[in-house]
Amino acid sequence: MTACRVCNEHIAAPTYEVPAPSLTSIMTLLDVPTRVFVCGACGHAQSDDVPDVQAFYDTGYRISLSSENHDQIFSVAADGAITYRTDHQAALALQLLDLPEGASILDYGAAKADTLRKMTVARSDLRPHVFDVSSDYAPAWQGWVPEQAQAVYSAPATWRGTFDAVMSHFVIEHVEDPVGFMRAVRELLRPDGTFLFSIPDVAGNPGDMAVVDHLNHFSDASIAHALASAGLQLQVIDKTSFPGAFFVVAKRVGEPAKTAVSSKSASDAATEARDICAFWERASATLEGGVERYSKRKVAIYGAGFYGSWIYCRIGQAVDVVAFLDRNENMKGAMHFGIPVLPPEELPEDAEALFIGLNPLKARAAIAAQPWLQRAGLDHVWL
Ligand SMILES: [Zn+2]
Repeated sequence: MTACRVCNEHIAAPTYEVPAPSLTSIMTLLDVPTRVFVCGACGHAQSDDVPDVQAFYDTGYRISLSSENHDQIFSVAADGAITYRTDHQAALALQLLDLPEGASILDYGAAKADTLRKMTVARSDLRPHVFDVSSDYAPAWQGWVPEQAQAVYSAPATWRGTFDAVMSHFVIEHVEDPVGFMRAVRELLRPDGTFLFSIPDVAGNPGDMAVVDHLNHFSDASIAHALASAGLQLQVIDKTSFPGAFFVVAKRVGEPAKTAVSSKSASDAATEARDICAFWERASATLEGGVERYSKRKVAIYGAGFYGSWIYCRIGQAVDVVAFLDRNENMKGAMHFGIPVLPPEELPEDAEALFIGLNPLKARAAIAAQPWLQRAGLDHVWL
């Protein structure tokens, strides 16, 4: 039994439960089981706390730190032009926040604060501030965020009630107490100040449900409930500008209000979350069958992205994974979990089975199109 992180309702049992190891959002393994609980009252889905969460984010979670210019690709246009994730976030944030001239803005859980930096390039009148729970990122703030506008571990009391806007990009899915987080943001905003946050949309990207350090999997209903409980008024939930994510705008209002979320939207959200859990439950059962058949034998995994990594975390101990196959040119020659990533044409001769780690909606067509994967004696194992 557990309590809902958003509405505090008791949730009797997990809807999804698989044993350790589990997969993190930065594609590492943790020696803990993955459990997802779905709240029927507010439509929120949540996972267990990550053990020693403070140490995990302070020193273990260095996303995008290794290279100055490393950024995830958001989209590639027909003419080959690449849009990076933080460029897209910056443009979207400026549009959704509609900030007044000279606005003070805080990136709360900023990491390197690339999004805020790009916003200040477009709008030199903005007064940027940054806060993070790790000191790792401080070097990335030097030169464009004034010293007194930087904070690590806790936000200074003098910041209270001062910001025109606070934003948090892909942070709240990680926190144990999302309503407490939103209350802390409210304290930092001036009256009528605006809060913008982005979080994964698990219905748009079902893989999110199996990420162990994403403690929160929000729905429209649970977003509305959490904001109202924190004294913030929901303005917009944009779920189309960034596929697989919600971009949410809320305002600081007078007193924390009673939530007006309909029980129908909450129960629809709960049903959707349970359906996604059922998919992962079936996928786990399929892999258990595969493990029994290929125990200690040589296999390969197609796909070194999220689905392939998740397969590895389920079967990696029991079978001998000789290679990941991936068509991504950037991964050529890379090692993933200490295993080589090869182009699909180089599938090792001795692999007896190929576990398919692709989005199940697209997997069969993608594999059928590659003759070198149709070798006699090679079994395909599908999620
Ligand atoms: Zn709830």
